Amino acid sequence: MAIIPGYRLGPKHDMLPSVSHSDLPTDGICGMLSTLSPTTEFVACSGIVSPEIASPETLRKRTPMNVASIMAHQDDEMHCLGTLLKCHARGDRIAFITVTDGAKGFVQRPEIQPAEAARIRHQEMSELAHHLEAEYLNLREPDEFLYDTPEVRTRLIEAIRRTKAELIFTHYGEDYNLDHITVSSLVRHCAMQARLPVIATESAPLVEHPAIFMVSPHGPFVFPASHFVDVTAFEDEKIELLGLHRSQEEAMQQAVGAGFSRLCRRLDGYWGQAVGCDYAEAFVPMRARGAIKPYNVLP
Ligand SMILES: [Zn+2]
Repeated sequence: MAIIPGYRLGPKHDMLPSVSHSDLPTDGICGMLSTLSPTTEFVACSGIVSPEIASPETLRKRTPMNVASIMAHQDDEMHCLGTLLKCHARGDRIAFITVTDGAKGFVQRPEIQPAEAARIRHQEMSELAHHLEAEYLNLREPDEFLYDTPEVRTRLIEAIRRTKAELIFTHYGEDYNLDHITVSSLVRHCAMQARLPVIATESAPLVEHPAIFMVSPHGPFVFPASHFVDVTAFEDEKIELLGLHRSQEEAMQQAVGAGFSRLCRRLDGYWGQAVGCDYAEAFVPMRARGAIKPYNVLP
């Protein structure tokens, strides 16, 4: 099946109406490889659009946007950093939110005290954020012991409001690490709650529900990737920036004999090969109420 940039088409795409390929955005790759839907459907990068409203005008991306990476740990942004760089290049404002303090990340040097480990992780993440002129919010919950509590929800709601997030990248619902799964679940709930005035925090409620995309997980999980961003032009910069997580480069080298460069080039190369470019990042939209948009949000 041919990849149509910006769109995913059901198996009966030859029957689709008025929007011709020449009308479609040509930057980036957001395609679908499989024919998951048995019906005629017309799906924009960020969601499902019925044929009658699928005009080029309604599908045009609205930029600049406020984009937030919400992850459990400092360095978990590795599966969307190329896309964030591409967002930054189109003028979007980027924010990084990490929910835990990363204090358990020094598997290679367990003698380091948790407070010192958290300080180093925070510093590394801050340096990376600085390169994207991004705000960095660290909620500092206990690494590897993250629980969904009223306090955590309230703090994440405030963080989402503070960044005025319109597009969120977060973990997939299945992953090897329970902190990742918990964050994915928290984002689903807190993105919705961030709009509701009945939960008061320092910042004002969001006007609109943000679009949410989930990144590919670590581990042998089925990940039904449906949306792809060509990050070929940003792959080198992505890997260079990830190198700022010096402690994690060292930890991964010791644990699995490979650092960010090998891990990213293998996975991004795999997704790239799937959609016909050198390097791509793959996503699944979160099917939460309000999180799927009738217009294109991915770069
Ligand atoms: Zn992690």
